[in-house]
Amino acid sequence: MRTSTTHYTQEVDRKVQMKIFHELAEEIYPLFEQYQIAYPIIKIRRMRARWGTCQYRKGVIILNSRLIERPREFVKYVLVHEFAHFVQPNHSKAFYKVIEEVMPNWKGIVAHEKENFANR
Ligand SMILES: [Zn+2]
Repeated sequence: MRTSTTHYTQEVDRKVQMKIFHELAEEIYPLFEQYQIAYPIIKIRRMRARWGTCQYRKGVIILNSRLIERPREFVKYVLVHEFAHFVQPNHSKAFYKVIEEVMPNWKGIVAHEKENFANR
């Protein structure tokens, strides 16, 4: 009984998480209009060392489930970062130019997150 309740709760949580992540992704997607990328498939996974990753050839973005506890601005940054990989798969200057363009305040968001997120 207990196990099934827990399982049910996790499933609901995942649905709620997915809804929130998609709401944020939909906010960001229009910023990439000029790059004509496809709206991504979003997957959620618990990851140890990364906030997000992407399979750019498949149009898949994988988000860390723990992002749900982070400020929405930071989640948006992670999404922007992964979206930008659909334009530039590496971390080249051109990649950061894309980020700079769609999210000019990204450095502040990342710095703020580093200051406030100590229990990593
Ligand atoms: Zn990256």
